[in-house]
Amino acid sequence: MPVHSPVPGGIIVLPLEKNVTSAELLGKRGSFFKEADRIYVLLPIPLGAPPGSHKVYLFQNEKAVESIFVNIEKKSYALQSLTIRKRRKVEPNREDLRRIKSESGRKKAAKSFRRDGFANVDFIWPVEGELSSPFGLRRILNGKPRAPHRGIDIAAPAGVPVAAAADGVVVDAGDFFFSGNLVFIEHREGVVTTYAHLDKIAVRPGERVKKGDLVGYVGSTGRVTGPHLHFGVMVDSVYVDPLLFLPTRHPSSAAAEKLSKISHGPAGRNPYHK
Ligand SMILES: [Zn+2]
Repeated sequence: MPVHSPVPGGIIVLPLEKNVTSAELLGKRGSFFKEADRIYVLLPIPLGAPPGSHKVYLFQNEKAVESIFVNIEKKSYALQSLTIRKRRKVEPNREDLRRIKSESGRKKAAKSFRRDGFANVDFIWPVEGELSSPFGLRRILNGKPRAPHRGIDIAAPAGVPVAAAADGVVVDAGDFFFSGNLVFIEHREGVVTTYAHLDKIAVRPGERVKKGDLVGYVGSTGRVTGPHLHFGVMVDSVYVDPLLFLPTRHPSSAAAEKLSKISHGPAGRNPYHK
């Protein structure tokens, strides 16, 4: 079950007592899920959300019936400097910018796809491997500040099969400028997972997948320093930390701890990225 983590980039998880039909935090809609016959709502907290007291609004058919105060705590994410060999992936030319612009609309549509019903949030790791880069790192690429890391990187050799984290439907799949070969899967209630930098894609848009089904193979397409899987989780289009959805038994959570300690500071380098 997803882990309650009231920080920017985290999620609020609340058990529901009443007959609530939707919930909202900071203008973002929550997702309902069921666990052991109880109904919960999980609400995304954007990375840029201001810490402090915020209200979760609970609705019954458009009508606000209750509000609950939640406290969003501060979290500072480490800084990471990387060198990307393909310079155009960091400093796109005019032609690249046109492509990026046209892809952003397509990405937006995939991210906001939403089907009703309870979300499938009982995830598995899409590949076995060490966590090579955690969520939320503030990034300096080739000396230039760039968007924070909005997923986790799992180190795995090229060609390793990548599995769907949970049951869902493939919303989009294709080649994108930054993400390379990318697959979007929606797991109901607007919970969407992404699988980026794939060598090959093994699914088509519209296809239904079961947890563990093959979606593609690990690769190094798009903006990368080497082969790995970039795995993202979104709730109502908001990127949140995928580790909050993954079983902690996986050995990489210990590696993540270790890594988050050593990658601090402006000279912080991810030892897995060479
Ligand atoms: Zn990544």
